[in-house]
Amino acid sequence: MLKRFVPDYYFQKFDMADAEFLTSIGVKGVILDVDNTLEPYEHPLPGEHVKAWLNSLADVGIRCAIVSNNNAARIDLFNKELGLPAYSKAGKPFKKNVLKAMSDLGTSKEDTILMGDQIFTDVWAAHNAGIRAILVPPINDKRDFLTRFKRWLEKPVLKEYRRRNEEKK
Ligand SMILES: [Mg+2]
Repeated sequence: MLKRFVPDYYFQKFDMADAEFLTSIGVKGVILDVDNTLEPYEHPLPGEHVKAWLNSLADVGIRCAIVSNNNAARIDLFNKELGLPAYSKAGKPFKKNVLKAMSDLGTSKEDTILMGDQIFTDVWAAHNAGIRAILVPPINDKRDFLTRFKRWLEKPVLKEYRRRNEEKK
């Protein structure tokens, strides 16, 4: 039960999963969440750090796509300059649009990874699609009730992630 929610990797920020790391774990395609993973909700466009990271992945042949539950207006504008394969209103944690993005990238389950900030949306969607997941903490972690409730739910999942990593050492 817990297994499907435990991320395969956890980084403090998206660009800490750099080209060298992704190559070392056999990744050729990255499916990206946008909101609070690459930029906070209130940033309509990707910043220079996002573009630099995407370029560094492209340089080693890693392809990227966007799969977001946000609406088309948000994602189309964010992706305008990037021109990545992109799905809005994607319905994560369902796998449908993750699989579509993977087909756009021309990658397989073994060499595709999904990166996002939500355990019950992004990590679950990746595992439903049979691919690995990188979790990053949300860039802007609003302290409203719902967010605090979700963080509380996530605690056993992150504990399990740390336990597994301790075992690997
Ligand atoms: Mg998000």
